[in-house]
Amino acid sequence: MQIHKTLKPIFVTRFQCVGPDCLISCCRGWSINIDKKTHQKYILSPHAEIAAIARENLILQRKGKSHYSSVKLNEKGECPFIDENKLCMVHRDLGEEALSHTCSTYPRSSTRFQDETRHTMTLSCPEVVRRVLFDPEAMLIQEEEALVAGYRTNLIGQRQSVSQTQQVIHLFAWNLIKSPARNIEENIMALAQFILCLQHVNFDLHNTFADVENFYEALLNDLQNGKSLMQSDNPARSNAMKYLALSVMGTCVAKDSVRDRFILEGHREIADFLNVAELSHPAELDAKFDRIHQQWQTLCEGSCLSEPHVLRNYLLYKLYSSYFPGKNTENILRQFYRIVLDFFYLKNILSVKSMQNDIDEQVVMKTIASFSEKTMHNKSIDARMDFAIDKINGGDDLSCLLLIG
Ligand code: SF4
Repeated sequence: MQIHKTLKPIFVTRFQCVGPDCLISCCRGWSINIDKKTHQKYILSPHAEIAAIARENLILQRKGKSHYSSVKLNEKGECPFIDENKLCMVHRDLGEEALSHTCSTYPRSSTRFQDETRHTMTLSCPEVVRRVLFDPEAMLIQEEEALVAGYRTNLIGQRQSVSQTQQVIHLFAWNLIKSPARNIEENIMALAQFILCLQHVNFDLHNTFADVENFYEALLNDLQNGKSLMQSDNPARSNAMKYLALSVMGTCVAKDSVRDRFILEGHREIADFLNVAELSHPAELDAKFDRIHQQWQTLCEGSCLSEPHVLRNYLLYKLYSSYFPGKNTENILRQFYRIVLDFFYLKNILSVKSMQNDIDEQVVMKTIASFSEKTMHNKSIDARMDFAIDKINGGDDLSCLLLIG
């Protein structure tokens, strides 16, 4: 007999689709794959309107049972099954059980390991963003254990259990991000320093656990006592890095606007604000980044982002959903930089946006959902982000740390 654990953060159990009230519906701008069984069901449906729409708009692909056809979107980029009240007519008239696998599971997903199953949801759904960021309990993890006859192997999609070392690193990382601190950047810097310590001991926790634990405890103490872990660096170099990072994110992410244009708009607002073509001296760029920094402080002190759980939950979600550091500790710094770069970009977009208008929960939901649509649902994004990180680091492997402050 073996124990199999099921993990569900509270946001997963509390989520409910808001349907027609959605800020960015998932039924637009995306290619929707239809499985063979659902394809036949729609084509042969006794519901005349659904059958007619299906015959006209389900385009045969025959790329396996789960990708038998795809939905042709209308001229507004919307799913043709959406009615005038923004309701899905398949769901409305045939019920939830008639939905395709893609439509019935989004935004949910799960990863199955030999000894546990982890449930999550994608941040490309704005309602998931609301649940994750603005519910103080969102990232409490509920665990259930069940006795199973033995490890079943060769299940489709099943992964090997993660090693004990990875589980311990995950727990340390989780606690460093969760700890109270003077601001969230201090938590990120604590995690950076902890990763460098792990690299220093070659991830050999077996022989160096006491030293690593002491280092971790010291970081936690510093965070909880409000001590700053930020290292003072050359601000001009740091701002040059930030400008480079914004430029590569524009190329790698913002231009890729399929479903909506929120991130592209946000990127243009940053470009307009920095307006580098008009700058005559590097000090003027420094002054602009100072202004963004001040604006971010203002947001963190007096906006919908100011409750301590909001930004912390975003980062905990990132750790949970990637099961940081994953199976390959060799690229732990790269995984960390992905989190840093995402956070840095969102922070800059929200700061510049809030210089024009107050930001509220809805702006934050749309911004993060739009960004996540580009970074969580694209097969080529990993290669593009690797390219971005290499370009920012410029060969030294540590320049990305300058983006934290
Ligand atoms: S994006 Fe989320 S809340 Fe909006 S319609 Fe899709 S599942 Fe529902």
